[in-house]
Parts: sequence; C-alpha cells; structure tokens
Amino acid sequence: MKFRADARLLKSPSVKEALLYEQLRGGKVRCNTCARRCVIPIGFRGFCRTRVNVNGKLYTIVYGDLNAVESRPIESLRPLGLGL
Ligand code: SF4
Repeated sequence: MKFRADARLLKSPSVKEALLYEQLRGGKVRCNTCARRCVIPIGFRGFCRTRVNVNGKLYTIVYGDLNAVESRPIESLRPLGLGL
C-alpha cells in the first residue's frame, strides 16, 4: 500500500530509522525485523504496516508507541472453561 511520507512524519517522536534492514537496488529495502522479510519499494509500507520506506531508508512509525501492541494479552490467554 502506498504511503504518503513528508517531512512532518519524520519529525514525529514515534518515527525512527529501523535497525534491521538492508538497502537494495532501485531504492527498495528489505526489512529483516521478522521472518517475513518484506521487500518494500520507496513510498510503501511492509506487511505489518509499521515500517515504511522513505527515499530508500526504512523507518518504523510506531517507535515507543505502546498503543501499537496488544494491551490486554492476559485476557486472550485465559484458559477455556476454568472460570478465571
Ligand atoms: S515490514 Fe513488518 S512484516 Fe515486513 S519484515 Fe518488517 S516487521 Fe516483518
């Protein structure tokens, strides 16, 4: 999915250059954060939609953003039928 990235986006405190990626030909990048290893063209996001290629550099757009992860993991792990 095409993602509009401008100068304001890069100034956001939740946007930080990704650590685990490699630059490919044509401005594409390969994200190595997880096993999916998305190849992302300029202006597009990875499968998880949290990594974006801005001019050949990969950025995470959820750095330090606690709302980006599940905030109630215990409820989804509750065993069935135990009435917990
Ligand atoms: S862009 Fe997201 S889904 Fe793709 S490899 Fe990186 S972390 Fe994994």
